[in-house]
Amino acid sequence: MNRQQLLQIAQSKIAEKRFYAEAQCDSLLQQLRNNPEYKRCERIFRMAQVQYAMQDGEDKSIAKSQLDKCKAEFDKILADLNLTEQDLRPKYSCTKCNDTGHIGMSACNCLETEMRNLLLTASNIIDTNCTFENLSDSNAHNKAVIKKARKVIENGQQNMLITGNTGTGKTTLMLACANLAVSLGKNVLFYTAYNLNSLFLEAHLSELKLKNDILNTLTDADILIIDDLGTEIVYKNVTAEYLFTVINERIARKKQTFVSTNLSLQDFRDRYDERIFSRLLDQNTTFVAKLEGSDKRLTSKPKKSGN
Ligand SMILES: [Zn+2]
Repeated sequence: MNRQQLLQIAQSKIAEKRFYAEAQCDSLLQQLRNNPEYKRCERIFRMAQVQYAMQDGEDKSIAKSQLDKCKAEFDKILADLNLTEQDLRPKYSCTKCNDTGHIGMSACNCLETEMRNLLLTASNIIDTNCTFENLSDSNAHNKAVIKKARKVIENGQQNMLITGNTGTGKTTLMLACANLAVSLGKNVLFYTAYNLNSLFLEAHLSELKLKNDILNTLTDADILIIDDLGTEIVYKNVTAEYLFTVINERIARKKQTFVSTNLSLQDFRDRYDERIFSRLLDQNTTFVAKLEGSDKRLTSKPKKSGN
């Protein structure tokens, strides 16, 4: 999904909200106008409004008192129905732009929000609460790694390879990277190595068009995150080959790829194609770091029993 497509979808989502708000309002008005007394009062009040707008000079004050009288009568009938004049207007979800997506010539904030929500939905991010603000690590080395990872997102250029034992916080860091990137309007794809490998297999077994669609989606995203590489089953002629194709194509297109793995660099080299290793470990283009520490999931305090 490129920015233009994203913008179009976001605009149509906002237009949908406007349409819904206006349809709800029309439906209420129609229902109210089935009541002859309401219909009469409303008509007289609207006519008084027009009269007031058209008059000037002395007649204006006569029109004003007539308008006030009609308004009081109209307010009363609304109050009897437990309504106010406010209820007769569409309830737009964005009161700044009335769900048009723009204020004058500028885009409204709600359009950006809608675009970010679309990016988030398309990203496979499983936890939106994992953010850099919520990351805490007492280990000074890990703190420095987290800080640098944040810079990598903000600069938008380098790849990232994060190694470390199980439970050192690699997935949490990858999720924080993903959430930050989405908040910056980046098109992110987050995959566990297991799920990505299944997708590779699906591509491999599909007809050419679907295969290309899958690979294009993987290479088009601004940021591709592969979490826990090394835990997936290696399918012969699939896993390493497709991984290389995707990573290589992404590097050629200057798109960022982030990988986390339990594997040591040596095991990484042994398990995958040497070409993947050398492409991904190019120190000029990749931030490589190891998270230290023991398994946080095993050392976290047990929850107190509630009863
Ligand atoms: Zn708005």
